[in-house]
Amino acid sequence: MADPILAIDQGTTSSRAMLFSGPTRVAAIAQEEFAQSYPRPGWVEHDPALIWETTLRTARDVLARTRTAPDAVAAIGITNQRETTFVWDRETGKPVAPAIVWQDRRTHAACETLRADGAEPLVTERTGLIVDPYFSATKIAWLLDHVDGARAAAEAGRLAFGTVDCWLIWNLTGGKVHATDATNASRTMLYDIRRNDWDEELCALFRVPMSMLPEVRDSDGDFGTTDPGLLGAAIPIRGVAGDQQAATLGQACFQPGMMKATYGTGAFVMLVTGDEPVVSSNRLLTTVAVRRGGRTRYALEGAIFAAGSTVQWLRDGLGLIGSASEAGPLAARADDAQDVYLVPAFTGLGAPWWDPEARGAIYGLTRGTGSGELARAALEAVCYQTGDLYAAMREDYSGGEATVLRVDGGMAVSDWTMQRLADLLAAPVDRPTIPETTALGAAWLAGQAVGVWPDEEGFARMWARDRRFEPQMGSDERERRVAGWKAAVQRTLSDRSGRSASAPE
Ligand code: ADP
Repeated sequence: MADPILAIDQGTTSSRAMLFSGPTRVAAIAQEEFAQSYPRPGWVEHDPALIWETTLRTARDVLARTRTAPDAVAAIGITNQRETTFVWDRETGKPVAPAIVWQDRRTHAACETLRADGAEPLVTERTGLIVDPYFSATKIAWLLDHVDGARAAAEAGRLAFGTVDCWLIWNLTGGKVHATDATNASRTMLYDIRRNDWDEELCALFRVPMSMLPEVRDSDGDFGTTDPGLLGAAIPIRGVAGDQQAATLGQACFQPGMMKATYGTGAFVMLVTGDEPVVSSNRLLTTVAVRRGGRTRYALEGAIFAAGSTVQWLRDGLGLIGSASEAGPLAARADDAQDVYLVPAFTGLGAPWWDPEARGAIYGLTRGTGSGELARAALEAVCYQTGDLYAAMREDYSGGEATVLRVDGGMAVSDWTMQRLADLLAAPVDRPTIPETTALGAAWLAGQAVGVWPDEEGFARMWARDRRFEPQMGSDERERRVAGWKAAVQRTLSDRSGRSASAPE
């Protein structure tokens, strides 16, 4: 195998390693799930040791299974669940507490206070984010305030902070390198995305000593080499990006206007906007898409909280299907004359509605409604929510070409859903041949950095389509359905949302 690239994909529920023998071929995949810890309602923690051990084991596993000599590996690329917060002792390498996971809401009150104090405009201007427990800053402060002696140790320069990538780089290099990349830094709420540096004022606002922060490097920068005792050789770490950014790269979305959606448990839509950050008037996030050669490119990002989880609910909550793959065929049998809408606000509604208090609802039930109509409504809800983000993004950003949507993730396998998505967006939907876009993006960063994989243009030409879904629905029908969805959302929004006057038409 010539110049293999090892991609590490450290996710929320599992750690994975993938060995690429080239940009179009995955030679091996290893995956290990690990325990989630929910010590209190709204809290989600990961054991830092387990994150590291499962990562190391899966990396060793793909090398062993493919009989790859460690010193033949050209480079390592890392992609990761974003925002999850680790704090450890620089001297011993020991974490001071479990990692606080991105989903964790324990700093909700702290965020409310900051917002009430009028901090949000500054935060948004500098970071492109909204003040929310999701991002790392308030999680770091929480650890410093609640772990005995942590704040004093941090102020004395003895503690290090890092997101997952940074924690793995630290361990892979045997504690030699404390660094992260610009995409991960852009999710901390401490990073000025225009100046490309940690922001002193924000660090003071969130009470995070700057001595804790890692050095921020290009996404395809030099992150050191692995300690030879770990994988059997000193392998260069040359690519790092947060999972959604890596998927955007893996989908070869390089040009302004290009867009991808990843459909897993939740879904994430990203629109590449180019060299200038675009400020959203729909509360979408502005984020770093990638930084290479000191040049930052930006994206708009929106999240759908319930995507594949709606399908899981059909399976586990209602028992309508035995496996996720039955949802599409069941929806295909639904009665066209019935307009049933499911608003899957199980955990509130995200952009552009931003209503954490909303809870789900079903509209349009008749005596004739059955499992087919419910399955269709569940799958369509993911399409309508994508449409809401698409409209909001198009309102915020009119540059670039009006393009197709590139899709990946578990739910993108469903032909029925992807066809309905194209119909309801009135835009073509493209599914690539390599579904592992997240790992591929990290591998590409590393592969091109060491010169064994092609540059952007060459890689974009290699991106191969499995299938294109062309819109087929008439515009009258589409408009009627989309209007029905919007009415359903309006009836579902909580009183606190102020009926979301800001949601785009
Ligand atoms: P994650 O990384 O968030 O675990 P995946 O990308 O593995 O997610 O996608 C899994 C999700 O996709 C599950 O929630 C599942 O319900 C959904 N899913 C998988 N296959 C299908 C399918 N054929 N049709 C519809 N949904 C599917």
